[in-house]
This record gives sequence, C-alpha cells and structure tokens, in this order.
Amino acid sequence: QFTEALARAVDPAVTQDGVTVHVAANLGSLADAKAAVANGADLAGLIRTEFLFLGRDTAPTEAEQFQTYQRIAAALDGRRATFRTLDIGGDKPLPYVSQPHEENPFLGVRGLRLALAQPELFAPQLTALRRVAAQYPVSVMFPMVSTVDELAAAKHLLQEASAEPMRADTEVGMMIEVPSAALKAGSFAPHVDFFSIGTNDLTQYALAAERGNERLGALSDPLDPGVLRLIAEVCAAAHGQARVAVCGEIASDPVAAPLLLGLGVDELSVAPYSIPAVKQAVRGLSVEECRELAQQALRLARAEDVRALVPLPDPSAG
Ligand code: PEP
Ligand code: MG
Repeated sequence: QFTEALARAVDPAVTQDGVTVHVAANLGSLADAKAAVANGADLAGLIRTEFLFLGRDTAPTEAEQFQTYQRIAAALDGRRATFRTLDIGGDKPLPYVSQPHEENPFLGVRGLRLALAQPELFAPQLTALRRVAAQYPVSVMFPMVSTVDELAAAKHLLQEASAEPMRADTEVGMMIEVPSAALKAGSFAPHVDFFSIGTNDLTQYALAAERGNERLGALSDPLDPGVLRLIAEVCAAAHGQARVAVCGEIASDPVAAPLLLGLGVDELSVAPYSIPAVKQAVRGLSVEECRELAQQALRLARAEDVRALVPLPDPSAG
C-alpha cells in the first residue's frame, strides 16, 4: 500500500468523483523543497521563512534572503512557491528584535503585527520576495492577520518594496489563524487570491488552549466542531473568490481529509513525507459524500464524536 502510494505520488490527487485536490508541501529549508518534489508535491503551500531568521545574531540581508528564496523556488522546478512572510514573536522570539516583555506573547505583537511594527525587518524580506516573484511562480502569504487594515498595510508595503515588476501570476494570500479573521473571511476575500487556514494557531485561539501545552493536548483538537465551523465559514465566504488551503498539522490526518474536502477546502499542505499518503487518501474519497459527512460533523458536540463519525480510509481505494 505504502509503495503504491509512493509510486503514484507524482500523479495528481483526483477524487472518485473527479475533483482534483492540490496536495502541497510545508517547507522549512532548501532540503525540504527537494524532498517535496521527490514526494510528489503539486506546489509548496507554506514556506516558513523564519528558518532563515532563527539561530543567528543579526537579520539576514536582502541579498541573502533573495539567494535562499531563489534556490527554493528553483528547486521546486516550476511548482508554485508560497512564501509566508516572517512569523515571529509568540513562541518564536528573535534575539536581534528587541521587544518589550509580554505577559501573553501568543496574544502579543507577533506574526504580521510584528512585521508591520518593524519595517526595517520587513521591507528587505518583501523586496527579496518581489525579486523572486519576477522570475518564478510565487505566492506571498501574510501570517496572523486579524484585520483588513493589516492586510491592506502589508499589501501596500509589498507594492512599495521595489520597482521590480512581479510576474503576472504572482499571488497574494493570507493565513487564517485568528478566529475573528475566519468569521470575517468575506471581508478579506476580495483582497486575496487565497486563504491558508493555519489550524495549529486557529485551534489554539478558538479553544483558548495554548499549543504545545501537554496538559491541554486533548482539548486542543482541530477537529473540535467549533474549529470546523470556523473552517466552514472561511470556505463559504471564499467561495468563487479565493482558494482555500489548510496548512496546519491536521491536513495530514487521514480522518481530517474527508471533512476538510467536504467543507470546501481546495488544497491540503503537509510535511513532504506525508504527501504520498494524503494523495492516496484523497483518491479514495468522493467530495459529494464528504459534503454530507462534513455537514453531520458540524452538528456534533465533541471532537471525539467527529473522529467516531469518519470511516477509516479504505486500504484498497485508489
Ligand atoms: C498554523 O498555525 O497552523 C501554521 C501552519 O503556522 P505555524 O505552525 O508555523 O504557526
Ligand atoms: Mg501559525
């Protein structure tokens, strides 16, 4: 079964009823880009650019960023590269960014909030990304967006970042990690090409349960019906205007795939080594049937009820 999935990894993931689902890779290095291609990624759905900023004493220069982003885009060999702009603060502090102490860093100046507050850090990254977008199919994605004004400010900075024209197929999107942003997706949709739902943070904020806190492991389940309802809102609001991806860890859970497709998610972005299995799981599903299942899940009360509802994947499918 595993070897069959691997052999078919480069083939598109088409459901039983003919819907093509893009299965993308989450990357945190150049090596990951190579692994993504080897494992059949249709695109890179999330490139966590923090990797270039962590574990050092000074910020990477624009030139250094350009070189690394360009290498990743080149390694993807024509596939779209979705670069997420700097997502630090919260659980990811940087020694060279001085920030006042925060009682609740997950609710503090993190992600896009920090980038907008520190233009000297943000501008070189945007310039580097524009330069890569002049040559390769690139999507620029903003993390931890809460308001339409933040999105507008970030898009404005991207436009101002350099005179270099980006390719016409360059896309701009945002992550949905803040529950209020999920509920306001209709207000964001006209201004983005895509949403990517970060269920790791969305779950943390929706359930008020700190991610990574072992004692809250059972509570912070992205399949909690409250989180599913937020995802459903995003899909309903995006419909026809913006594509919807999920790039949190849940995207690689075989129990989640039918629910996410049933809610209207178009793309699953997962760790490179998970791609063959996710594609294979998608091939066994019918979106029509998934829609019915997802509607049932939305009416349930507990994550465990949702998990019990979903039939385990049929190992002979595909
Ligand atoms: C998420 O929050 O789901 C996500 C994909 O971003 P990160 O895990 O990098 O915070
Ligand atoms: Mg996140």
